[in-house]
Amino acid sequence: MAPKFNKEMEFTYGVADQLSSLVRRIVAENPSAYTFHGTNSYLVGEPSGQVALIDPGPDLPSHVAALEDAMAGQELTAIILTHRHIDHTPGAQVFQELTGAPIFAFEEPAGSSFGEDRSFNYDIGIKDKEVIRGNGWTLRGLHTPGHCGDHLCFALEEENICLVGDHVMAWASSIIIPPEGRLADYFSSLDYIDALNFDTLLPGHGPVVSDPATYLPALKAHRESRNDQIIRALQGGRSTKEQLVALVYAATPKALHGAAAHTLEAHLFYLLEQSVISFEGGHYVLL
Ligand SMILES: [Zn+2]
Repeated sequence: MAPKFNKEMEFTYGVADQLSSLVRRIVAENPSAYTFHGTNSYLVGEPSGQVALIDPGPDLPSHVAALEDAMAGQELTAIILTHRHIDHTPGAQVFQELTGAPIFAFEEPAGSSFGEDRSFNYDIGIKDKEVIRGNGWTLRGLHTPGHCGDHLCFALEEENICLVGDHVMAWASSIIIPPEGRLADYFSSLDYIDALNFDTLLPGHGPVVSDPATYLPALKAHRESRNDQIIRALQGGRSTKEQLVALVYAATPKALHGAAAHTLEAHLFYLLEQSVISFEGGHYVLL
């Protein structure tokens, strides 16, 4: 079954929304075709104790002020990045300068790719399953490559909630950016999160995912049907990448064709790896 995308999201820029007893969300005002309404920054912790800031977002004065307001009277003890994309990272430095809190990110930088913040620095590398703790909260890093190679989701163990960054979003399927982003990894990372049976997923952009058990398999099926679509297109004859983008994403708004081209490339890599297709003289052909 195709995933049911949800674009309905109630929020106000600059206002912290209490999503659960431990989690608050503040949306940055950096909307775009890639970021939807903007980057979601999350605060984890009691509104009177130690807190973690997940994905500080852009260095926008309005967003920094909103996060500072929301953190008043609390101690920021961890600045955590789900991945190094430029719409998530710049605020990390700002809040480190303001509070001295350490910056956590996946232990291995993914290398250069579209959207990466190359000036990003972190203090503490996190491995798969490694834990960051504060008073009243436990966040477990889950290495979930696919969108990019260095992606981590964070399980909030007290509430069976997972902060999923750009790995899973309710409003659209995530883009997969080769060469670090691989479709095979994305499939295993969807299975990884699915197997942990979270009640709720909190994405880096857009509304919450409240039915992960239905939604995650549907996202996987959506990508598998894209593979089938590419195979069907190639049954009609050899094709270039550009011809395939135009064909496969005919129904997608032109503004998203740049993102679509990345993801289509990830599909083509996957089909090449699986020896379903080959690349000859600038054209993809079915084997
Ligand atoms: Zn991203």
